[in-house]
Amino acid sequence: MTIQPSISRVLIVGAGIAGMQAALDIANAGYDVILVEQLPSIGGRMAQLSETFPTLDCAQCILTPRTVEVGHHEHIHLYTYSHVEAIEGELGDFRVRLRRRATYVNWDICTGCGYCQEKCPTKVSADFERQMGVRKAIYTLSPQAVPNKPVIDREHCTFFQRGKCKVCERVCPVGAIDYEQQDTIVEEQVGAIILATGYDLYDLSRMPEYGGGQVPDVIDGLAFERLLSASGPTAGKIHRPSDGRTPREVVFIQCAGSREPEKHMPYCSKVCCMYTAKQATLYRHRVHDGQAYVFYIDIRAAGKRYDEFTQRAMEDEQVVYLRGKVSRVFHAPPLAPGGVNGGGKVMVWGSDTLSGQQVQIAADLVVVAPAFLPRPETRRLAEMLALPVDGSGWLLPHDSNVRPVETVRPGVFLAGAGTGPMDIPEAVSHASGAAAQVLKLFSRWGKENEKEGQ
Ligand SMILES: Cc1cc2nc3c(=O)[nH]c(=O)nc-3n(C[C@H](O)[C@H](O)[C@H](O)COP(=O)(O)OP(=O)(O)OC[C@H]3O[C@@H](n4cnc5c(N)ncnc54)[C@H](O)[C@@H]3O)c2cc1C
Repeated sequence: MTIQPSISRVLIVGAGIAGMQAALDIANAGYDVILVEQLPSIGGRMAQLSETFPTLDCAQCILTPRTVEVGHHEHIHLYTYSHVEAIEGELGDFRVRLRRRATYVNWDICTGCGYCQEKCPTKVSADFERQMGVRKAIYTLSPQAVPNKPVIDREHCTFFQRGKCKVCERVCPVGAIDYEQQDTIVEEQVGAIILATGYDLYDLSRMPEYGGGQVPDVIDGLAFERLLSASGPTAGKIHRPSDGRTPREVVFIQCAGSREPEKHMPYCSKVCCMYTAKQATLYRHRVHDGQAYVFYIDIRAAGKRYDEFTQRAMEDEQVVYLRGKVSRVFHAPPLAPGGVNGGGKVMVWGSDTLSGQQVQIAADLVVVAPAFLPRPETRRLAEMLALPVDGSGWLLPHDSNVRPVETVRPGVFLAGAGTGPMDIPEAVSHASGAAAQVLKLFSRWGKENEKEGQ
């Protein structure tokens, strides 16, 4: 009987900063990587961020060289707008079935010139902008997207919905629009798998205490990142959603849905203390006469130079930190019967447990830091691979103390925030850890094959 040699190729699911780091580590060692991303372009949540704590480096400036390197790497086979349909097999020989969604644009000839997006008449609220801005029915996620090729959103495209329009086809200089394109199925064989599926945020609609998603000027942290971002819908200017005015008083609420086992999620989301301090600081840099308040339970800023960063927010930027929970957020009532909303303010009622006082703030904008959640599709992947998840759906390592990137399934590894909330430096080191485990296998298999060949 001939034994099939193990395959020194890896499948990585998720092309956020963690998936990209693992892909680059493995590809730069000379091995092939199949990198699968469900969105039309790579970069994950980091592509939505403005600047990063504690250095306030521009997130896009750190990310773009990596997305470009991944996009052009000879050993990285990128499947964007794709997902895993099935995985069979075992360590050394997994067979993977991928579905590439139809983009309705022939990417082989599209030059990414952007005319189609410019001329498309249909505007749609943009998920990437957390509904702070719009995109067209034919779109790329951002101007820096890799690959920089558009997809047509069938649900909103006038041609697909009403059978007329075809503006994109008419303006495309290279004839790349293909309304007949179908999904395609691709089969790949790999020896190991890394899951780098990242996180979502708990939806505001699940938290009536913070307005339940019904108050336009109550937004979540990622939406505020888009407002802060130079490439975002307001080009980095802070305008509140309801009327476009510059907010003079902004209230940030930490631990929204985290550390609340009775009503929401039991765990700490770990990144919010730092990103809230960052956002309050950046708000003050943009709106010099603005006042920022932060409601917190306690401040968890344990990374290198993290505590100093939050101290600077308090001392240099005069951000007012209030220790306590917010009990209610609501539209200020009309100033007079039948009149308009109370000056367009959002009322925030909370307690300051240090002074023992009740606090009421009439804010212009409220930014909520919701709990991190695993992405819903992660559970399906875990089931496909018979991997355990914890009570909240986070992927579980074999042993979180000493084997944090291995799983109970040989050859399947974990990287980044699909295992629980983590910031970028932690996601990157976790991903390099997973890459090292894969390279260990590939190196061993290489030596075994050499011996057999002697
Ligand atoms: C408001 C806010 C501000 C932040 N600011 C900072 C900061 O300043 N500094 C910092 O260090 N951290 C910050 N973070 C944390 C940072 O976003 C994360 O650490 C980082 O994004 C984690 O990267 P990741 O690759 O693990 O996950 P993600 O960025 O979530 O990427 C996962 C990728 O996997 C893809 N994917 C998921 N499931 C599948 C599937 N089944 N098939 C194919 N693809 C899939 C997703 O589409 C996504 O592209 C912030 C977080 C928030 C919410």
